[in-house]
Amino acid sequence: MIITGSFNGINYMKKILNYINGEYCEPISGAWIDNFDPSKGEVYSKIADSNAEDIEKAYQAAKAAFPSWSNTTIEKRSNILLKIASLIEENLDSLAYAESLDNGKPLSLAKAVDIPRASSNFRFFGHAITQFASEAHESVGLNTMNFTLRQPIGVVGCISPWNLPLYLFTWKIAPALAAGNTLVAKPSEVTPMTAYLLGDLCTKAGLPKGVLNIVQGTGPSAGQALVAHPNIKAISFTGGTKTGEHISRTAAPMFKKLSLELGGKNPNLIFADCNYDLMLEVTLKSSFANQGQICLCGSRIFVEKSLYSTFKNDFVKKVRTLKVGNPFDKDTNIGALVSKPHLEKVKSYIELAKEEGGKILCGGNLVTVEGSENGYYLEPTIIEVFDNQCRVNQEEIFGPVVTIMPFETEEEALQMANNVKYGLSATLWTSNIDRTMRVSKQLEVGIVWVNTWLNRDLRTPFGGVKNSGIGREGGFEALKFFTETKNVCIKYE
Ligand code: NAD
Repeated sequence: MIITGSFNGINYMKKILNYINGEYCEPISGAWIDNFDPSKGEVYSKIADSNAEDIEKAYQAAKAAFPSWSNTTIEKRSNILLKIASLIEENLDSLAYAESLDNGKPLSLAKAVDIPRASSNFRFFGHAITQFASEAHESVGLNTMNFTLRQPIGVVGCISPWNLPLYLFTWKIAPALAAGNTLVAKPSEVTPMTAYLLGDLCTKAGLPKGVLNIVQGTGPSAGQALVAHPNIKAISFTGGTKTGEHISRTAAPMFKKLSLELGGKNPNLIFADCNYDLMLEVTLKSSFANQGQICLCGSRIFVEKSLYSTFKNDFVKKVRTLKVGNPFDKDTNIGALVSKPHLEKVKSYIELAKEEGGKILCGGNLVTVEGSENGYYLEPTIIEVFDNQCRVNQEEIFGPVVTIMPFETEEEALQMANNVKYGLSATLWTSNIDRTMRVSKQLEVGIVWVNTWLNRDLRTPFGGVKNSGIGREGGFEALKFFTETKNVCIKYE
């Protein structure tokens, strides 16, 4: 089925076009890629298969728009961002619908999290830029005054993944625009729809032509051309670690500024002194929200031995109550995985777990949903593992699959948590403040949540260590990334 109608005033064209210089346009090559509805496993629209020529066209538009946008007053830039935020809010229902259709996530989740957060991203950076200040250093006794300028970089590139499509796309675009840059941005080819719809909202909000250019297409073609473009001097990328490595290789010889938000294999450390009921409820979310396709999901659950069997029984019972179903059904907890290749990858890890001696405590099977028989559905799966070094505990699966394993001491828990190549986030469950401090300091990650999960204040730094990336986004960190720092030193008599 190709959707050509409209929902709440927004048209779902059968073609997902590029948005360049304030206009929707077809790819120069005339090539298109199939876009799937994961809940049904059917093609429902076509995406522009853009290449280096489209990136160049977008770059030229962004370059032409830069002098004016970078000199636009902070107040005006801020107002436009706030207007985009409001338009996203006004179109919450249609955008949430589009997100679920494109990604397979429950509509309830898109409505409660993805789209409100996309709006918050614009609202937050619309306000943050009005408070962004720089430093001055007076060299007392030397008649010298230094001040620091934080100037927009120029044309910057943003590349985002499919798991939280509009949420993560706007997480990059909003600070880049707020700081006075013009952009060439590429959403994931797996979930292009809401980025496509955003173009129209930006036009309505009065964003000048060429300031934001959205180029659709694949990583190896459009994405690679964006990263390889010699005049796009900064790239903010969120996606897989392997892709991040490739991007670093391409960008390094040109000395581009890079922010890389990559994969994770996040540990949950559950101590027996935790608030048990709260922990159980939140662990269900941190394991399976968005079908487990959040880089911050806690996919390795380590439980103190004295609590282990109680937790194991209760957790399995709870997970069995989760309903896998069509994303548009009200009582669905777990929707479809994003694509067939991804479903196959996740399923292959469940098979691998069995080969590695893991025990499937619940789930593990594909699900056939009535009326959506070809959709990409998988049961939420808990695997008991006996060795932290097994591949299912070391490699990112990025689906509704978690492992559980007991530990005896705080040292052992920490050692297992850190013994992995990733270092994005960790969740710690304990009521002991001394332990909270000790463990938080020693965890090799960029974000630690204690007795909570995915609790986000947009002012805080966000990012990972080790193979989970370099750089921090969020708050002023993002505005710093999207500006070039210059010191001006003035000697006076
Ligand atoms: P991916 O790396 O396959 O793709 C991400 C984006 O990069 C897409 O837009 C893709 O088209 C583009 N891309 C692919 N190859 C490229 C290339 N050679 N040059 C330029 N661009 C290229 O990742 P994905 O499968 O879309 O997303 C899942 C991954 O993202 C997981 O590993 C997940 O952990 C990670 N992720 C990380 C964070 C974070 O904040 N750290 C957040 C969300 C997702």
